Amino acid sequence: MKFFNSIFHPFYAQHWLAHHKHVIIDTKHIGEHGECSEHLRLKTLQQYPKNTASLLNSSMGMGANIYGLISQYALLIFTPLPYCGLVFWHDQPWSLLTYLLPSLLLPLSTIYHKYLHMSDVSRRKKIPWYFRWLLSNAGDQVVKKHFIHHHMNNDHNWNFIVFADTITNLFNGTNLEPDERTIAYMKKLGLEME
Ligand SMILES: [Zn+2]
Ligand SMILES: [Zn+2]
Repeated sequence: MKFFNSIFHPFYAQHWLAHHKHVIIDTKHIGEHGECSEHLRLKTLQQYPKNTASLLNSSMGMGANIYGLISQYALLIFTPLPYCGLVFWHDQPWSLLTYLLPSLLLPLSTIYHKYLHMSDVSRRKKIPWYFRWLLSNAGDQVVKKHFIHHHMNNDHNWNFIVFADTITNLFNGTNLEPDERTIAYMKKLGLEME
């Protein structure tokens, strides 16, 4: 039990307890710099003393260094997510891909995660060449979906991973669309949905 906890809890702390809270209370700073303010960083480290390593390895849930990536892959190996496709294997062999592919991409997506939280201006200014596809129309959709992930429908964890929605929609079409309220809120922030 302790072993599983040591794999699950750090991610829970960095992603749900820290990151999901930070993007709501520190939107402006994160929008400009792609990371939370120093004050909030120290406060979070004090708040979760048992998870300081995972918080630091993930820049407070905003990214991942090599240790952060290793622990995320460990998380995937020990969660049912990559194996859910097996349930449907009998009827639709290709459905296995809908779970395997996004699962493999999840840790990789944490590398560009911080750019999803930046304002349009900061993103254009700071994004490195190998992530410039995030400035395209398709990339714009990824940014919007990640916004929805944080502010609405936030139980849909795939939606900031490139192609994940397309792949999952091919088989079950369960991805949620933003509701009226979310669309109105996004418009206010300049994030128009077509
Ligand atoms: Zn999340
Ligand atoms: Zn995020």
